[in-house]
Amino acid sequence: MHISIITVLPRLIESPFGDSILKRAQNKGLAQVEIVDLRQYATGKHKPVDDYAFGGGAGMVMMIEPIEKCINDLKSKRPYDEVIYMSPDGELFTQSIANELSLKKNLILLCGHYKGVDERVREHLITREISIGDYVLSGGELAAAVVADAVIRLIPGVLSDETSALTDSFQDGLVAPPVYTRPAEYNGWKVPEVLLSGDHSKIEEWKHEKALERTKKRRPNLLK
Ligand code: SAH
Repeated sequence: MHISIITVLPRLIESPFGDSILKRAQNKGLAQVEIVDLRQYATGKHKPVDDYAFGGGAGMVMMIEPIEKCINDLKSKRPYDEVIYMSPDGELFTQSIANELSLKKNLILLCGHYKGVDERVREHLITREISIGDYVLSGGELAAAVVADAVIRLIPGVLSDETSALTDSFQDGLVAPPVYTRPAEYNGWKVPEVLLSGDHSKIEEWKHEKALERTKKRRPNLLK
């Protein structure tokens, strides 16, 4: 999978992809993350990427021209399945959207800044809009990193334990059961006996029961 992230602040988004699982995914050739500096596509002496809003009002608006040039340039190199604009009023990001996107080959994530992008970008140049939650960030970079992380870890081979993504919260409509590691007792706080029993079917049964219990309590909407 190839993910191109368009941003005016490349430095803001470089580090999440330079470590741990996301770095390994790229080293193994399973995912490629390309951070594209929008300013490269700006014209004029000061290379502006934003301008005042027509009709007035506070805040700058990202201009359509550099964005269109950038998207066209990217599209001339590979066919993109989706051109996604990160937006607080977009479709709410969920594990099922992450699953869906993990099956795609090439994605563009467009990060907004300031007041957002000229509406004509949304009308004509993008295929989808995603929000990571009902709150407003100062830019789309952190949201794009969230989406890219959730998607890349689902690509087969990225996680070392193949089953690990399948047992995460939301994958089977339940949240994950509690997990423990050594020591088996700490300050008198004990790990549930069954986990130390070595009886795998009992352990699986316990995990399912706990996941169900926790889902009922924390995310009852998943059970509907
Ligand atoms: N004026 C806009 C907010 C702009 S915030 C409004 O009120 O809707 C600046 C940029 O941050 C947006 O263009 C978007 O790319 C990004 N952003 C902010 N909150 C976000 C969220 N919850 N999910 C995804 N992207 C978000």
